[in-house]
Amino acid sequence: MSVLEQNIEKLQGLLARFQEGGIKNRIAGEDRDGSGGQFENSSPVDKSHICQVARGEAADIDAAATAASDAFAEWRDMPAVQRRKILIAIAEGIEARAEDIALCECWDTGQALRFMSKAALRGAENFRYFADQVIQARDGQHLQSPTLMNITTRVPIGPVGVITPWNTPFMLSTWKIAPALAAGCTVVHKPAEASPLTARLLVEIAEEAGLPAGVLNIVNGFGEDAGRALCEHPKIKAIAFVGESRTGSLITKQGADTLKRNHLELGGKNPVIVFDDADLERALDAVIFMIYSINGERCTSSSRLLIQESIKDDFEAKLIERVNNIKVGHPLDPTTEIGPLVTQEHYDKVVSYFDIAKDDGATIAAGGEPLGDEGYFVRPTLFTGANNQMRIAQEEIFGPVLTSIPFKTEEEALSIANDTLYGLTGYVWTNDLTRALRFTNKLEAGMIWVNSENVRHLPTPFGGVKASGIGRDGGDWSFEFYMEQKHIGFATGQHKISRLGVQ
Ligand code: NAD
Repeated sequence: MSVLEQNIEKLQGLLARFQEGGIKNRIAGEDRDGSGGQFENSSPVDKSHICQVARGEAADIDAAATAASDAFAEWRDMPAVQRRKILIAIAEGIEARAEDIALCECWDTGQALRFMSKAALRGAENFRYFADQVIQARDGQHLQSPTLMNITTRVPIGPVGVITPWNTPFMLSTWKIAPALAAGCTVVHKPAEASPLTARLLVEIAEEAGLPAGVLNIVNGFGEDAGRALCEHPKIKAIAFVGESRTGSLITKQGADTLKRNHLELGGKNPVIVFDDADLERALDAVIFMIYSINGERCTSSSRLLIQESIKDDFEAKLIERVNNIKVGHPLDPTTEIGPLVTQEHYDKVVSYFDIAKDDGATIAAGGEPLGDEGYFVRPTLFTGANNQMRIAQEEIFGPVLTSIPFKTEEEALSIANDTLYGLTGYVWTNDLTRALRFTNKLEAGMIWVNSENVRHLPTPFGGVKASGIGRDGGDWSFEFYMEQKHIGFATGQHKISRLGVQ
């Protein structure tokens, strides 16, 4: 039996229970049907039915928010060492089930196993990292003034909502849920409707690890009803959101009446700038990896290549050869590099850019067409001869599609790089240190890597500027979001208090 066949067999074993009973919502440690009935979940690999999913609406969000609110005091007041133990047990549970998580994630989203097995383990790392921060999460400062000893402490903000997208949904949800739990918050998670499987596995692992009922609740459903109700719910104190920029703006509007604190991680149209003095072999590897891995369905993908004109022809020729060699195939085949796109809707969107590129006058140098007729596969695509005004250079396509734009000077590269609504990441390839310092100083992005692909280090801040987001994840920045700063001043003596109303 080939590895692919073995993986399919394992997956079938894992899916049997979902096919039989569907996926229910999980509220206060209990399975509950959705008040909106059910919706269907299917696989992008061959469009086959996976399972029915509970369709949560406002009433289910209300039940989950109430459960999270009821569980809050116990979780907040649990000794930090005990909370830490539970988070470590969740990390161990994820590691033990990493293969199951990866197989389900691939089938649900179309992502290739070679990337998803690592993504599952990164989910465990998120829990381990924040478990280690639990003990000091509440620590503050003491700031002495002439008359007062001022101290600060942090307290968890309360029950929070987590709304996640369908790209690497397991890893992204742990990225939000782990620091929220470490901070002492309780959570209502609304996973993306296109990829509900691994959110269910996570809550099961968490409860088996000893997480008290109601601390993590899952309500499946659609953005416009379950998602909206979560943003509007008065018991939910903050929303951690990952998704499209236009949805981020809706999240802000929906939370206005309840003065919600929002953390928004949104879209990107990230530039990778390759200067002619760079290590071009490494640059080529990184350019390819950062747009064609994870199906290009990655917020930090370098979807605009800015290439210096003096090296353009040679670099693009090598790029075309490599892109044409990328292996598109079944996501459970360990040799596959690109799987199918997540849904029909997203496939239609990505495919529409093949015509848009032609209409704009760009050249399709590689790919530019769908592949097969079973699932949502497209060929990895490279557009050349583009300029930064074209839609293929301005809009987030979110697929394995790269737009190459030439530049002559450093000033021109900077102006093209910054000429976008977005500002999530930037990648700069040069061996001129002074240029790298000058360039990164002016590049409008929340995260920049020089002579490197995106390498995530959990203590560093993750987030974007402009339409790419508001707020930061990672390290103590996560706690700044999930916790409130509290100041308490103690008088150190009998300082003068102004006396009013004294005759
Ligand atoms: P999306 O915005 O369509 O959906 C994301 C989530 O929001 C889903 O759970 C959806 O149901 C929910 N939602 C939709 N409308 C809502 C509403 N009115 N109120 C509340 N919730 C609502 O995004 P998507 O298509 O699932 O994901 C792809 C997008 O996510 C891309 O733009 C990508 O760049 C972005 N993303 C950003 C980051 C980052 O860290 N910056 C990471 C991953 C993905």
